Amino acid sequence: MHSPLAPAWLSLPADTAALNAKIFSSGVARDAGQVTIQGIGVTELVEQFGSPLWVIDENDFRARARAYVDAFNEAFEPLCGGVDVFYASKALLTVQIAKWVKEEGLRMDTASGGEMALALRAGTDPSHIGLHGNNKSDEELHTAISHQIGRIVVDSLPELYRVEAMAAQLGQTANVMLRLTPGVDASTHQHIATAHEDQKFGLTMTPAPGAETSDAYQAVHFAANAAHINLVGLHSHIGSQIFDSAGFETAATRMLEFIAVLAAEDIVIAELDIGGGYGIAYTEADDPVEPAVIAQNLAAHMSTEIDRLGITCPRISIEPGRSIAGPAGLTIYTVGTTKTVWVEHDGEHYPRRYVAVDGGMSDNPRPVLYDADYTAVLANRVSDADAVFSRVVGKHCESGDIVVNTVYLPEDTDHGDLLVVPATGAYGHVMSSNYNMLLRPAIVAIKDGQAREIIRRETYDDLFAREVDL
Ligand SMILES: *Cc1c(COP(=O)(O)O)cnc(C)c1O
Repeated sequence: MHSPLAPAWLSLPADTAALNAKIFSSGVARDAGQVTIQGIGVTELVEQFGSPLWVIDENDFRARARAYVDAFNEAFEPLCGGVDVFYASKALLTVQIAKWVKEEGLRMDTASGGEMALALRAGTDPSHIGLHGNNKSDEELHTAISHQIGRIVVDSLPELYRVEAMAAQLGQTANVMLRLTPGVDASTHQHIATAHEDQKFGLTMTPAPGAETSDAYQAVHFAANAAHINLVGLHSHIGSQIFDSAGFETAATRMLEFIAVLAAEDIVIAELDIGGGYGIAYTEADDPVEPAVIAQNLAAHMSTEIDRLGITCPRISIEPGRSIAGPAGLTIYTVGTTKTVWVEHDGEHYPRRYVAVDGGMSDNPRPVLYDADYTAVLANRVSDADAVFSRVVGKHCESGDIVVNTVYLPEDTDHGDLLVVPATGAYGHVMSSNYNMLLRPAIVAIKDGQAREIIRRETYDDLFAREVDL
């Protein structure tokens, strides 16, 4: 029955067994009642690899990665030449994933010494690596300069001066992009909007009160004239989980206008990186845009702006993360305890069923961090029981430990059943923790109907591995 407690976007499913194709990876189906990934049932996966379990549909991941390369190259080739696609590795990174990214023709964005070390260890060509971060350490800059990575995305004037000094000391030239904040307030959660002024990232394009020039302008002039810096280009990233093209278009316009100002001073900006942030469907409420449509719209907008400004188009690069890894992943959980509570609403009381599973905020902190919504389905069987208004929770010692805040599940969902939560490929494993000393799940990759572990499940010995005096 429809619950008055449900948010407006949540519909009562006609069939609780249905799998919404825009949310699940392309390899997911139901076979004899059971959810399968490329033909492999969830029960078999849990028997072999344990529960909870992260599953990555490798074919789906690779297809999404390739779709960005193909779509952006097709849309921009006539206008600005080829596009470089950098996979934003913070979304999901393992050595295997670094290999898939390379094989599909993408480059690799990193945002810390650890991510950069993994990319190098996985054999990524250093010239295909980018390094981000608003507070890079000397050690991180040292590694980036000495390996001659393709782009250090410099975030501030002090960092730019440090890069020049360190490159001089090492007798090398550092490849630098400058991250600017084009002043766009993207429509997404405040903690993942990154191009408005009042936040920590990037060089402002607006002069301070009383100042003649902006930090961005000063940085370009310094970098263009520095003896040990190769100014690769400019960068902007407006945020994450964005559906609306207006923010990307406004950012592109501001960046191109700035490039036109610099061109008039004979400073040529050869590359423009417009970041990532393309939204994905976590629930039925989200309507993601296909890479081909994003690319065509942006290319059309930029073509108009380039004509208006009378500039030559810089080479374009993009940095999708979530929209490649997110939809390719899912999490399988085992149901433990259930209970029903009665919640008051407009003077009446309505039931909410709590379904507790064997993971939670340690394998997916996004609900507790950003109130992120997800959905779930009963996965080991189908049920013709009524759909009841439910909340899937974890096993941690916090009431905010929510896995799926609102979802209709079959009333007979119970101890021992398996649930699948789709779209958990990005910002799940990489943000996971050992809170309450839970063991982090394995990651299983499924390719062409074959499942293999790419990250093994933790053991209690792993938990104690850093104890100095055991
Ligand atoms: C996080 C991040 C990305 C990727 O964002 P998604 O929303 O995962 O596509 C790209 N560029 C930069 C600089 C980032 O910080």
